[in-house]
Amino acid sequence: MFITHDIHIHTKLSSCSTDIHATLENYLLMGKELGLKTIGISDHLWDEEVEGASDWYRPQGLKRILETREKIINANSEIKVLLGAEAEYANGILSVTKENAEKLDYVLIPHSHTHMKGFVLPERVTTLEGIAGYMVDSFKEIIKKDIATSIAHPFQPGGYNNIRDLQQIYSYIDDGAFIECFTEAQRHNTGIEINISSFFTDSPLDNIFKNTYLRMYKLAKQCGCKFSFGSDSHSLARLPRIKLGEVISDYLNLTNEDLIELVR
Ligand SMILES: [Zn+2]
Ligand SMILES: [Zn+2]
Repeated sequence: MFITHDIHIHTKLSSCSTDIHATLENYLLMGKELGLKTIGISDHLWDEEVEGASDWYRPQGLKRILETREKIINANSEIKVLLGAEAEYANGILSVTKENAEKLDYVLIPHSHTHMKGFVLPERVTTLEGIAGYMVDSFKEIIKKDIATSIAHPFQPGGYNNIRDLQQIYSYIDDGAFIECFTEAQRHNTGIEINISSFFTDSPLDNIFKNTYLRMYKLAKQCGCKFSFGSDSHSLARLPRIKLGEVISDYLNLTNEDLIELVR
């Protein structure tokens, strides 16, 4: 399937983007070259109204995200531009209120920023088996909150994306556990993100991915989940990677019908 959207894009508003070229204007120019019809800006968010931000999240509030709305209107682009955010789930707390989430076009929520130890990943989790269990539990907890449009980089643990760790983590999550998670996602109408940057080689059909991410996505499809694609670009140069989504969607036999409504 030709991929015509990318709704996981960070601009230089995100603390982890150090690229001065990562602006809405530049993404729109490149998006047009890539044949994209919909682009979604999803900078990191910890809502000022929600207690419990880490030092890293505290400056990344909602107010500055909403300022992007004006830039979108001024851009007057033929590409459809959506204003979203990548919120957070840590210590049982969702980083955006339901009321404020409604000020955005969509909200991505990750459960796998496991590199944030002691904040996202609880201190007590110290093994790869523990990480697998944490991801299964936190996935279901987020779905129940009914705020996420899509789950960002599902079961793609930050800090453990190397072949050995990944394979081991996935060996601790059986099909039944995935099916339980994705059945809930489908029931709550929560999308599943196909996150391109998690595929850390340029060959998304490598065996490592067939045994891990692609196995997981196949089960999501089997459960009737809908998908969104995201390059998770933190720099302009990363945007063309969204095209790898074609290989992945063909492998999973996805059609337009399998996408979340927002990007169809
Ligand atoms: Zn993320
Ligand atoms: Zn991101």
